[in-house]
Amino acid sequence: MAGRRITHDKDRCAGLGVCESISPEIFEVGGDGEMVVRVEFVPPESEALVDDAIYSCPTQALSWSQ
Ligand code: SF4
Repeated sequence: MAGRRITHDKDRCAGLGVCESISPEIFEVGGDGEMVVRVEFVPPESEALVDDAIYSCPTQALSWSQ
């Protein structure tokens, strides 16, 4: 079981860093303002934080991959 993946819609992302403030282990906004997902697979213990980040992203740029 590798874990679930996150889909990040870069066209929607405004680089505001709400996701990073919720879970810096998973999300990182670089100095260029580009947010990157730091993990390929989300560990089960971090799923609730990712749910929170998906819900909290002001531009709806995050979702679970299908
Ligand atoms: S909270 Fe949303 S808009 Fe902000 S950096 Fe994260 S994905 Fe991008």
